[in-house]
Amino acid sequence: MSGGSLSNEVNKRRTFAIISHPDAGKTTITEKVLLHGQRLQKAGTVKGKKSGQHAKSDWMEMEKERGISVTTSVMQFPYRDALVNLLDTPGHEDFSEDTYRTLTAVDSCLMVIDGAKGVEDRTIKLMEVTRLRDTPIITFMNKLDRDIRDPLELLDEVESVLNIMCAPITWPIGSGKNFKGVYHLMNDETILYKTGQGHRIQDRDIIKGLDNPELDARIGDYAADLREQIELVKGASNEFDKELFLAGELTPVYFGTALGNFGVDHMLDGLVQWAPTPLPRETDEGKQVSATMPTFSGFVFKIQANMDPKHRDRVAFMRIVSGKYEKGMKMHQVRIGKDVRIADALTFLAGDREHVEEAYPGDIIGLHNHGTIQIGDTFTAGEKFKFSGIPNFAPELFRRIRLKDPLKQKQLLKGLVQLSEEGAVQVFRPLANNDLIVGAVGVLQFDVVVHRLKSEYNVDAVYESINVATARWVSSNDERKLDEFRRKAEQNLALDGGDNLTYIAPTMVNLNLATERYPDIEFHHTREH
Ligand code: GDP
Repeated sequence: MSGGSLSNEVNKRRTFAIISHPDAGKTTITEKVLLHGQRLQKAGTVKGKKSGQHAKSDWMEMEKERGISVTTSVMQFPYRDALVNLLDTPGHEDFSEDTYRTLTAVDSCLMVIDGAKGVEDRTIKLMEVTRLRDTPIITFMNKLDRDIRDPLELLDEVESVLNIMCAPITWPIGSGKNFKGVYHLMNDETILYKTGQGHRIQDRDIIKGLDNPELDARIGDYAADLREQIELVKGASNEFDKELFLAGELTPVYFGTALGNFGVDHMLDGLVQWAPTPLPRETDEGKQVSATMPTFSGFVFKIQANMDPKHRDRVAFMRIVSGKYEKGMKMHQVRIGKDVRIADALTFLAGDREHVEEAYPGDIIGLHNHGTIQIGDTFTAGEKFKFSGIPNFAPELFRRIRLKDPLKQKQLLKGLVQLSEEGAVQVFRPLANNDLIVGAVGVLQFDVVVHRLKSEYNVDAVYESINVATARWVSSNDERKLDEFRRKAEQNLALDGGDNLTYIAPTMVNLNLATERYPDIEFHHTREH
């Protein structure tokens, strides 16, 4: 294959994920995005996430539903001249560390905000994660068909709470019952909103020029208001600047309604125009691997088990960093130093799993995993480097796990360590006692673990509450200080599933005191594999 066609494929690709607070409209916007990408005949067919009908502890039910939702784990679709990969970020009850880690595998993010609510908790957290890589962010202010907050105030809130500059690309004309459409600041055109068009691609009804008298004819008094507002907005807000966008310092902002399928295409236009093509990735040796490097490389950022009742296996999700995947090719799995032949990588086009013939940087492929692949694993064409930047994140919820049959302690530990290698939960063993502590980012993972311990390891376990607020991985440049710390803080120290030393804090105050008291010790919120 010539280098030319690799760079063509690379230049076409945009790989992104959606960050939002539950109910802001992620699922709805995904549907409309796929409608525009012509992956769905009719919007409204993306199933997924909660139905709200199952009890939270009913893992079998969850699994059945996940069997459906997982087909939307990764979605690839064409839009204009681009090929877009949208990676699903589990929300609601299935929110987990995977949600965070997926954000380290994309090149840009779409932030969806409910225009009536503004910036919410989950969005703040997810934005923090995107900052690890200064990922470029595009913003969609949703639900304009309802009464929203003052748009300028919304932008102010994004700027001050999320610490990112806003550059409005479109500006709304009215909202709720009076939502008339948006004015596109860069194209100097007004795009009028029609109701009842949510399920199909609609022709844009465009009026060129802000001074065009047709605007007055079509939207009456709103035209004069709009002219006034745009003057104000141009004075009060930032202009779009691609460099600042690519540095994660400025976000282009679009207004619309996902439900009404209005504005989603404007946002997609911006995405394919400005969002980065597959970015280089750094290795543990500090080397950059660019997408156009001819030899194949990629890393695993997520492992999913029992995805589909029909395929009771585990699938490792790999992001391709460089070169080309071809069916049947040999890859080198760097951590274990072995070559593996990959005959049947999967892709997840809306509906069924499909086998891929070839895939390129920015694409995600699924590898069948019988327990030999771990999160963070690098695959190459034979080179020995490992990619960095696919971390573990400190859990936010903790429980003590206890056996019903104490004789199975070994099995329990083995199960927990293996499950933690898949990245859904983490396990901690305190230095000072024989407890086993499970830590997770999302609450559903606790149920998943108990269910899987039973079905895969034949271990009956139950949880007890425990007084832990947070965990931090610890390290120090000074071995002596670390030893001293290990002695003095033993009551708060534990080993994780990979035997890394971790500080377990009963309260945030305790953690803050510890960081003050031990200035030579570094407390890390993430840990590299
Ligand atoms: P998610 O939790 O972020 O995936 O949110 P969903 O896409 O499931 O949306 C949550 C609720 O908001 C659903 O009832 C949607 O129908 C509704 N919704 C989403 N977008 C819009 C919109 O633009 N306007 C209105 N009125 N409702 C919306």
